[in-house]
Amino acid sequence: MNKTLNISLLPGDGIGQEISSEASKVLEWFNEKTDLKINIKEELVGGVSIDKYDVPLTDETLDNISHSDAILLGAVGGPKWESLDFEKRPERGLLKIRKELDLFANFRPAIVFDALASSSTLKTEIIQGLDILIIRELTSGIYFGEPRGVSQIDEENKRGFNTLAYTTKEIKRIAKVGFETAQARSKKLCSVDKANVLESTELWREVVTEVSKDYPDVQLSHMYVDNASMQLVRNPQQFDVIVTTNMFGDILSDCASMLTGSLGMLPSASIGEKKNGKCNAMYEPVHGSAPDIAGKGIANPLAMILSVAMMFKYSFAKTEYFNLINKVVNKILNSGYRTKDIFMKNDKLISTQEMGDLVIKELNNEKI
Ligand code: NAD
Repeated sequence: MNKTLNISLLPGDGIGQEISSEASKVLEWFNEKTDLKINIKEELVGGVSIDKYDVPLTDETLDNISHSDAILLGAVGGPKWESLDFEKRPERGLLKIRKELDLFANFRPAIVFDALASSSTLKTEIIQGLDILIIRELTSGIYFGEPRGVSQIDEENKRGFNTLAYTTKEIKRIAKVGFETAQARSKKLCSVDKANVLESTELWREVVTEVSKDYPDVQLSHMYVDNASMQLVRNPQQFDVIVTTNMFGDILSDCASMLTGSLGMLPSASIGEKKNGKCNAMYEPVHGSAPDIAGKGIANPLAMILSVAMMFKYSFAKTEYFNLINKVVNKILNSGYRTKDIFMKNDKLISTQEMGDLVIKELNNEKI
């Protein structure tokens, strides 16, 4: 690959800064040691952008990042900005990126690393070897539907309302992502809805079933969301790829992430439609800015580093580098090194920076 890959790095707030420094080291390593030519440009988003420009995302930043080959984001938010108006808060910057770049497909893997199986709240035999992928529709559904708001009914009574709406086109494109992803894995796709009660998801089920005709090699199943949440905890290994709506995906993926027992280990990707040979994509850890531990040098940088791995796989078709990063992370965990969040008795406690250094050390030990 000779083209220079322009990566927009948006560290954001809180631990976003610390974990981004470690992800930068990994990107630099790949720039130096492999066929990839990587150019990193840092931009501001969230609270740090509010402090400087009074908005969580400037138009200039949005324009810059939309022209990059991929976006890597740390986390946004923190108590300093919590009292601001809703529209001005750090999280609005993140939502604006997702919406403006039409990042409609959110990939949230829940993988249990062998060495961490015992830190889950579930029995080890239930979650050992777990590797599932939840694909959440990210730019429509109830979080964006109109009308929405709170109206006054009478002096004592208000009415809060939101709209759950999906079009055929919106369902089709996320369903296709689901089937194509399943094709590259175990060829099993579970579509989650609430078709027995909600008309919009009755349409969801109808369209997903229709799209399935183009993927005869994929075994499609449907599940109601209440059952899916129960099954995820009862027997998560029955799933491989799940495709679902924005709100159901939000809730189910948080549930699935906790199966792994480690918020600091979970990466994610949000991907848009291919247009003119280019696909907008943003990669970020699932966790937030963790203000309670920010600046202490104890945050786990692995979710951010694993987000870099996802970037190599999904944006640059470099599955071998995705595998390489996952391999060294496994090796480090198997050797007993842990940041505080995943530390258990007898482990070797290390800092954010030491974890980043270990990843580089192990990468250096690998043959490319
Ligand atoms: P959080 O994910 O920031 O933290 C939850 C808990 O997990 C905390 O105890 C924290 O210390 C711990 N934690 C999270 N990531 C960790 C890591 N890498 N290493 C070690 N420990 C880690 O969630 P929260 O406390 O609810 O939110 C804090 C702020 O982050 C809020 O302002 C929220 O709006 C924002 N937030 C941002 C994003 C995002 O940027 N994508 C996502 C969620 C929350």
